Amino acid sequence: MAEITPIAISIGSNIDRERCVPHAIRLLRRHQRINIDVVSRVFRSQAVGGTDDAPEFHNVAVAGTTDLTPEELRAELRQLEETMGRERSDDKNAPRKIDLDIAYYGDLEKDFGDWALPDPDIATEPHVVVPLADVAPDWVHPESGMTSYELLVNMPESRERVEPIMAIQLATPHHHRHASEFDFEARENEVYDPHFESLVQGMLVEVGEDPEREGLARTPLRVAKAMDFLTSGYTRNLEEVVNDAIFDAEGADEMVLVKDIEFYSLCEHHMLPFYGRAAVAYLPNKNIIGLSKIARIIDLYGRRLQVQERMTNQIADTVTEILEPHGVGVVLEGKHFCMMMRGVQKQDSSMITSSMRGTFKSDARTRQEFLDLVRS
Ligand code: ZN
Repeated sequence: MAEITPIAISIGSNIDRERCVPHAIRLLRRHQRINIDVVSRVFRSQAVGGTDDAPEFHNVAVAGTTDLTPEELRAELRQLEETMGRERSDDKNAPRKIDLDIAYYGDLEKDFGDWALPDPDIATEPHVVVPLADVAPDWVHPESGMTSYELLVNMPESRERVEPIMAIQLATPHHHRHASEFDFEARENEVYDPHFESLVQGMLVEVGEDPEREGLARTPLRVAKAMDFLTSGYTRNLEEVVNDAIFDAEGADEMVLVKDIEFYSLCEHHMLPFYGRAAVAYLPNKNIIGLSKIARIIDLYGRRLQVQERMTNQIADTVTEILEPHGVGVVLEGKHFCMMMRGVQKQDSSMITSSMRGTFKSDARTRQEFLDLVRS
């Protein structure tokens, strides 16, 4: 297991910045080897070294952890910049869609030739230190021995040159937070995904609400967080979910059944929840899988916009693919809010879908044994 190192990353953009900054945050948050614990407010700053009419920047810092080496992390950030359409030119001050730089990597002090850690700009550039002090006020700059918050206080001009976009009181240092569990709550002064939040705010207006009223003030942020979690299946992959939990069957040839596994998903027609219980069975050939992994495979496909039939097939195909068993059976029984919340006499209806592969399809007795076990 590789070392886990605390990191901070500076994000900047002055082309299409309202879209690019949140997109970069989302890509980082969904990166499998980068863990983001906290995101700063969005700040605006004048472009450095550019002409007066150069578009101003939006700057954000994020802090978290990674098991990547500094070189690997930098290469990943370059890759993300490229994905987002950054074009590098010889002009170091040219406007750009996105700039992703490592601010610090633990307490590492190292010169890599054309770059260094921590980022030398931390000590001199308000647009770097202001967002950093927002997410990691207690981080100690190795060269000066000052915390990032003290560095900020020592740059008196910084508060004029770098302002938070939202009218929130500036730089009350908050403490490190670690989101070990996913947390839908809005933390004080938190910015999660400004673009998504503004879309939710628009929805609130459309349904006849006042998005400014107290009870709704942080709702867009909570919805953005909740949706990010509820659709996280799009950015996870099977390898990560299964994670070496496949074992030699050692001659086991009896049906393996896991049932009453709770699942939750969102229907793709209405984006309303459907939920229920799943049963998954297989006849081992060479391999078996840790039981908890079956539940994680179900989540992998549940946490996206779905139809129950497809989700059932995806689970069956996945178990087939990773275990190459003699056969697989999957049954999902789901209740759909889009049916339950309207009309009468539909509240209790549930939908049952099944998917059979291999001997579960070809052999009536195997299938019947499975279905009997599911019902018992
Ligand atoms: Zn629906």
